[in-house]
Amino acid sequence: MEVHAQLATVTKIFCSCPIEVGAEPNSRTCPVCLGLPGALPVLNKRVVELGARAALALGLEIQETSIFARKNYFYPDLPKGYQISQYDRPFSANGELTIMTADRDEHGHAREWRPMKIQIERMHLEEDAGKNVHEGLPETDRFSYIDLNRAGTPLGEIVTKPDFRTSWEAYDYVNHIRRALQWVGASDADMEKGNLRCEANVSVRRVGETIFNNKVELKNLNSVRFMQKAIEFEIERQIAAHESGEGVNQETRLWDEKNNVTRVMRSKESAHDYRYFPEPDLQPLKVTAEFISRVKSEMPEMPETMRERFQATYQLSYTDAAQLTHERELAEFFETTARITANPKLSANWILGEMTRELNNAGISAADSPITAEDLAELLVTIGAAKINNNQGKEVLVEMFATGKTAPVVIGEKGFEQISDTTAIEGIVDQVIAANSSNVDAYRGGNEKLFGFFVGQVMKASQGKANPKVVNDVLKQKL
Ligand SMILES: [Zn+2]
Repeated sequence: MEVHAQLATVTKIFCSCPIEVGAEPNSRTCPVCLGLPGALPVLNKRVVELGARAALALGLEIQETSIFARKNYFYPDLPKGYQISQYDRPFSANGELTIMTADRDEHGHAREWRPMKIQIERMHLEEDAGKNVHEGLPETDRFSYIDLNRAGTPLGEIVTKPDFRTSWEAYDYVNHIRRALQWVGASDADMEKGNLRCEANVSVRRVGETIFNNKVELKNLNSVRFMQKAIEFEIERQIAAHESGEGVNQETRLWDEKNNVTRVMRSKESAHDYRYFPEPDLQPLKVTAEFISRVKSEMPEMPETMRERFQATYQLSYTDAAQLTHERELAEFFETTARITANPKLSANWILGEMTRELNNAGISAADSPITAEDLAELLVTIGAAKINNNQGKEVLVEMFATGKTAPVVIGEKGFEQISDTTAIEGIVDQVIAANSSNVDAYRGGNEKLFGFFVGQVMKASQGKANPKVVNDVLKQKL
């Protein structure tokens, strides 16, 4: 797997042009990112910091010295005629990452989660190229357009060893990478927005074979799901090609999401000769041990560690803990709620149930929730104390979510406050008994079915606010 992750800087890697999605084409450019003769690149320090966070999040070793290199090739969106990348001395290397993966049933549901070790060969730093535009502009049948706003955007390219054996392992790996990078703030890692791009190299071999057969590089994978489907398709296609004797060509194929097939983009007769050589305009990049330890000290607790801690500390199931640590804001939301309520299970249930439903309906993440963890905790404490019941609590939460009001305000507005005060309920029970003397006699004469009638009368008289348990107790005693 090769994953390109755009590092979340404000400006480009070798110049101070801002990175802005949707800006007018070619308006965020300067002599450096346009590749004009004599323009000199200067490394953005923030790229090194975010690169270091990414490397540590993926279990990579940051190299004391790395070297930028020119990768020479011609392409219209690469005005310099070369890309500044790294070659034999990458920024980080020798990573070992443990991911959770599972086989899936025919509906795509995970069977059993198991840990899996992935060797990450390297993550190097490089600049992105510009973009060729073939749509949405006049006469695209005759012209291609070039937008260089993206040229010079910082990327980390993450390359693994050939460790994957199924499409779902690759799927779980990319999801792991995506979350890890978002978690540490190194990248927005959104595949749909193109700031996380994956390429999968696929080959098949018979059980017992030790060499790798011709591989196919898959591109144009715009979501993790498309990637998984493309790999699955490609595995089947290659098996059929081998078995029919036709064989598999070394080539690049694109995923055609309309027809659910891969198509040839270009064939690769041999490995490209990019004629890499050290970039003469940039010094070797040296990072100190102090720098690395500072970045380490600023790293948040990683999701896997947090998940294990949630399971151990709060006695949550693997599934609950995994879901809560899917997103950093959600995990923090849970911890705050659990701490205030002192009831982790109740907090987890509400956050994964009602809260998640509201968030999904609104299409927002926990970070943008109109209900704070403190607000939710206040509601849960009210429910825990049986001042309102579960269903009322759900109604209150929906209203809190829609209006941003706190639990006590909504409970007051809805008139949900339960009467649990025994003296007050005794008063109501006395009235009901006095007003229904014939039924009282019948009940005392043995017609125990009438008990429900009395409960109903008391609830009616209290406008539904009496605590049913207290009502039962008081009625039994008085009757
Ligand atoms: Zn620039």
